[in-house]
Amino acid sequence: MADSRHLTIVGAGLAGALLAILLARRGWQVDVYERRGDPRVHGYAGGRSINLALAERGLHALRQADADGAVLQRAVMMRGRMVHPLHGQPQLQRYGRDDSEVIWSVSRGELNIALLDAAEAAGAVLHFDRRLEQVDFDARIATFRGEGSAHPRPFNALLGCDGAGSTLRAEMARRQDLGERTQWLDHGYKELEIPPAADGSFRIEANALHIWPRGRYMCIALPNDEKTFTVTLFMALHGDGASTDPDFDRVVTGADARALFARDFPDALPLIPRLEHDFEANPTGTLATLYLDQWHLGGEAVLLGDAAHAMVPFHGQGMNCAFEDCVALAQQIEDHGELAAAFAAFQAQRKPDATAIQQMALENYIEMRDLVDDPAFLLQRELELA
Ligand code: FAD
Repeated sequence: MADSRHLTIVGAGLAGALLAILLARRGWQVDVYERRGDPRVHGYAGGRSINLALAERGLHALRQADADGAVLQRAVMMRGRMVHPLHGQPQLQRYGRDDSEVIWSVSRGELNIALLDAAEAAGAVLHFDRRLEQVDFDARIATFRGEGSAHPRPFNALLGCDGAGSTLRAEMARRQDLGERTQWLDHGYKELEIPPAADGSFRIEANALHIWPRGRYMCIALPNDEKTFTVTLFMALHGDGASTDPDFDRVVTGADARALFARDFPDALPLIPRLEHDFEANPTGTLATLYLDQWHLGGEAVLLGDAAHAMVPFHGQGMNCAFEDCVALAQQIEDHGELAAAFAAFQAQRKPDATAIQQMALENYIEMRDLVDDPAFLLQRELELA
């Protein structure tokens, strides 16, 4: 049996690393198990969305862990949306009245590494190459697999930060129905890159989130501190047979992608010299919203971040929401002491917020790909900001 002041975190991604800092600083003994290798040794093997929009909600959570300084050092400020119409000049729509209301583009890898360093400094013990495989809740043994063998470990409670495909969630569901539902989006995404200009500077306005809205599909681009942009093309996975809109069934090769960009994103095309390569080499990502009725199993296990409420990325709030979860859970554990009560209070506090943000994220896809280019919408925003 593990010590009652001991907690086991599954997953050392964004939520797992931040939660480890917050709990270790409150005096908990924390062990974190991560299926991947240590990104500080092997390089970051993230697999998806190279950069992320960090908003005030997430920044506030990072401040609680004194991690905001290290993260903001390498972040790029985005003061608004730069909308690129098919015809005409790009136009900046500010997020607020001035630069006190901005969001930040951060590299997923750099952010993760900064949080892992801080977690270790706070006293958390990190175990890499350890994939949660199985949980025996009666015996309170979690089995991790790594380097060819199984590693059974006793636990007091498991905190599930293992992402949208959470193994802990699957193990909890074998014991109790969590009321899990996954709603797949019929649109997917592909990442491409705008490299720096010949003189090493950004090729387009650095301090903006660029959007090329095209009705039922769109491109966005977020800046990186090494003066590149990560471009994400979102469009339907499959055609409906009637529409002329592009979809991933019909835009298959690099040449197809070039023809699409020449027609619909002509100002972006010359910015992406390796378009064919990126389009063919990078996987097509799929997107879903995950709903659960139950986030915890008594005081034995609780889920947070994407493991509890994965959402589509159109509000840029999945990570921000996961960070808020970490602050809330650490506080509920401190307030209650008794873990079952803390986990129940955490779920009651955070589930309504997460559900609301999931809904807003789905709605924002319509706004981003369509309404941001609508003159009536632009006028309304100007009036709001006036
Ligand atoms: P993850 O970041 O997925 O971390 C899970 C960790 O658990 C990983 O390190 C994984 O290796 C590990 N793991 C998995 N299984 C196991 C196992 N069995 N055992 C041990 N370890 C395991 N959010 C924003 O706030 N802003 C954005 O701009 C934004 N853009 C996005 C763009 C795209 C295209 C996508 C797909 C998502 C975007 N998000 C954004 C959402 C954001 O990526 C997630 O909400 C965030 O990563 C959730 O963090 P997490 O720690 O819960 O999960």
